[in-house]
Amino acid sequence: MTTAADMRSVVADANRIVIKVGSSLVTNDGKGLDLVAVNHWSSQISALKKQGREVVLVSSGAIAEGMARLGWTQRPTEMHKLQAAAAVGQMGLVHAYEAAFAQHNIQTAQILLTHEDLADRKRYLNARSTLFALLRLGVVPIVNENDTVSTDEIKVGDNDTLGALVTNLIEADCLIILTDQRGLYNADPRHNPQATFISHAQATDASLEAMAGGVGTGIGTGGMLTKVLAAQRAAKSGAHTVIASGREDLVLTRLAAGECIGSELQASEPVWSARKQWMADHIRGLRGRLTLDAGAVRALTKDGKSLLPIGVKSAEGYFEAGDLVSCLDPEGKECARGLVNYSSAETRLILGQPSSNISTLLGVISHAELIHRDNLVVLN
Ligand code: GLU
Repeated sequence: MTTAADMRSVVADANRIVIKVGSSLVTNDGKGLDLVAVNHWSSQISALKKQGREVVLVSSGAIAEGMARLGWTQRPTEMHKLQAAAAVGQMGLVHAYEAAFAQHNIQTAQILLTHEDLADRKRYLNARSTLFALLRLGVVPIVNENDTVSTDEIKVGDNDTLGALVTNLIEADCLIILTDQRGLYNADPRHNPQATFISHAQATDASLEAMAGGVGTGIGTGGMLTKVLAAQRAAKSGAHTVIASGREDLVLTRLAAGECIGSELQASEPVWSARKQWMADHIRGLRGRLTLDAGAVRALTKDGKSLLPIGVKSAEGYFEAGDLVSCLDPEGKECARGLVNYSSAETRLILGQPSSNISTLLGVISHAELIHRDNLVVLN
């Protein structure tokens, strides 16, 4: 039988990692920001970055910290009060991370998102480009739900799910959910001495949901269920999830060194990311068609390259930046689909031209690619 000791954590081989930390950890069970813990995670993340890894942090705690700052002992139920608490607490949250990372000469950035931002292709693409730009700059983005503007209709609701959405958004290799529990058990260890710890499972294993959320079973009922669902969601883009205790000594460093100290919920081999799946499955509503030359077809389908304006012969339809368009080979057969970086009007001005001419032709250059390969799905 394979034991945890024989296995190597999925984090070891992960280059792009999303780390989610929960409210109870960040705010020391609601007592106020746990600066010692924030410093520990920051120094471990700084070590991961020195190893060449990219890290995005999804941190909860705004509402809990806001309540502590406002002297509220009871969590309000009214939306506007929760929003007010989040607005107050978010200040403390980002300040704490900023100060902690500054000790390692690392810049941080605040990203506040709602579900609506991720459902809309254009805003999704913008958020994605911004996150990539920040990662390229060596910055650690600190993400939270934009609680201040989030109403029930547009919010994600919990940061485990937000962590998974961000994981899919940036196609991270791994999502680490730090919580105040060791991980997932097959029954509630507080009530069942037979409960065994789940160190490895497939994220899509349907029995996990029952273990995490079944009445009288999983630990932290509700809390673990959202984590399992987040792991399933992350697995759709090929990312593995690790649920581990944020209170474990050097948890991130040890995971990255390959030690299995949490529940590892693995993704099975995906062919496409969730977004690529979305594009491929899109049967209606393609706004435009780009006809490519043979060189561009080869670059896209064989070499995994982005689509540059120079490889496009003609553009049909009316589309805006961020819309899904079809790429046709010279014979008119669809060979790929992707989210285009320029509108149809702009595309017509730059097609057939080298990317270095974009700024002269459009007055501005936002992307060298017409469709970045991350936003492209090749069809067979
Ligand atoms: N966005 C909320 C906050 O920062 C937390 C949501 C969650 O923990 O799931 O307080």
